[in-house]
Amino acid sequence: MRLLDSKDQSETDPIMKAKTIEDREIDLKQDILNGLKMRVLGLVLMPGEVGYEESRTVWNAMIDRKPALVVRCLGVADVIASVQFAREHNLLLCIKGGGHNIAGLATADGALMLDMSLMRGVWVDKKKRIAHAQAGCLLADVDRETQVDGLATVLGFVSQTGIAGLTLGGGFGYLTRRWGWTTDNVVGMDVVTADARIVHASNDENADLFWGLRGGGGNFGIVTGIDYKLYPVGPEVIGGIVAWPASEAPKVLELYRKLAKEAPPELTLVFFMRPAPPAPWLPKDMHGKPIVAMLACYSGDLVEGEKAVAPIKSFGKPIGDVLVRRPYTQLQLLLDGTQPKGRRYYWKSEYLSSIEQALGEKVIEHSAKIRSPHSAVILFQIEGALNELNEDHSPVGNRDARYVLNIGGSWDKADEDSEHIEWARGAWTDMRPFSTGGTYINFLTEDEGPERIEAALGNGLKQLAEVKAKWDPENVFRTNRNIKPV
Ligand SMILES: Cc1cc2nc3c(=O)[nH]c(=O)nc-3n(C[C@H](O)[C@H](O)[C@H](O)COP(=O)(O)OP(=O)(O)OC[C@H]3O[C@@H](n4cnc5c(N)ncnc54)[C@H](O)[C@@H]3O)c2cc1C
Repeated sequence: MRLLDSKDQSETDPIMKAKTIEDREIDLKQDILNGLKMRVLGLVLMPGEVGYEESRTVWNAMIDRKPALVVRCLGVADVIASVQFAREHNLLLCIKGGGHNIAGLATADGALMLDMSLMRGVWVDKKKRIAHAQAGCLLADVDRETQVDGLATVLGFVSQTGIAGLTLGGGFGYLTRRWGWTTDNVVGMDVVTADARIVHASNDENADLFWGLRGGGGNFGIVTGIDYKLYPVGPEVIGGIVAWPASEAPKVLELYRKLAKEAPPELTLVFFMRPAPPAPWLPKDMHGKPIVAMLACYSGDLVEGEKAVAPIKSFGKPIGDVLVRRPYTQLQLLLDGTQPKGRRYYWKSEYLSSIEQALGEKVIEHSAKIRSPHSAVILFQIEGALNELNEDHSPVGNRDARYVLNIGGSWDKADEDSEHIEWARGAWTDMRPFSTGGTYINFLTEDEGPERIEAALGNGLKQLAEVKAKWDPENVFRTNRNIKPV
């Protein structure tokens, strides 16, 4: 994509190059661009214009793509007008929610990008316990509004993540053990389809589309709003982290395995190993040194919660302990600083059905080989409600998953890419035999191919291809984990 010289241009002179959905390069002319500007209320941005860089960049600095145009949508009408425009000119479309997808699926060279980040409204129906959230919301937006009424839905661990990508791919977090995947808690979605219509998808309306959206990603349309079931949570929970020196890892891992096995659904436990970040609650002389830690959230009765986390707090000699009563909205922010936009990231991930002793030993072994101050190996506990639904309840499936292993490479400099990627791949190769065979679609990196999509969506793929054929037969929505229409 290239911006052409704007001197002495007539309305019909080409002003920029863009890509078609067949990956051909075409010229876009001033009169065409003016046509788009007349049709949308939100800003239309070209390379070089204020705001373009902010829109086109995503969380992972490994991704550096340049859409031809960005529309910062202000509402459903802008989304419809943009889809119509893209269809009329056969333009490649990409859709950016929170921009957190590690593979950079929100952006594409030469595409027309719909940036949803100005659509961040949340409406809570306290009586019905439903929140309607616009698709540009970040997790923090939804938690903040629902917590006004002491309610919450199942969202993820980092508040700056987009709700749309997370929900469309499955979603898990502090409340998954009680209520399942995020997508198990969606009761409806508003969607702009490939033929630029707005439709509602739920169990009662367009049920096939609703099924596909709950794990099949952005393959079927552009989601403009999501309705979530809400549950009483907080406003205070017991949440936070306890950390020890990495030399204690074998004992802490043993404790983790025991506590996780006995934990009630209200308690979610996460085990991780990494170099200590320069956090004020960790002693300065430990910063950069390897640590082992447990992150916990007890979202039920606070007195019971204090009892449940007591064995963690009293274990050995922690070097830091911020596992306390705190607002749920504050817990949601706790990890944000460790995952800033603009670093380089490469992850490898698998679902596990248990934490075997031998797997634990490998976690410790590969954590000791971390060479970046930001990388980590993490075990998320997710078992509970999600295991109780049938595999075909939604395409997110993986109802045998009880833990998520994430080998999270994270570093600053481009010339270190190969070193940290090699570390993550090496650890993954060694730990992969412990996998259920399934993996989380939202954690797949740019270099993971069709066999990994199959590992993530498994048996659902055939039905997803049928839903795709009905709702997007020309594969207009292809900048995603693409499912070809059958
Ligand atoms: C720091 C960090 C922490 C994370 N923690 C968790 C976690 O705790 N739990 C969890 O489940 N996942 C987690 N994830 C993974 C997360 O679910 C994915 O990265 C997800 O894709 C993020 O959604 P997004 O809207 O920010 O993505 P984007 O990058 O904006 O988009 C991802 C995909 O979704 C599509 N899309 C976005 N919006 C729409 C829309 N409105 N309509 C149709 N398609 C759309 C995009 O086109 C793209 O294909 C985390 C990711 C990061 C980077």
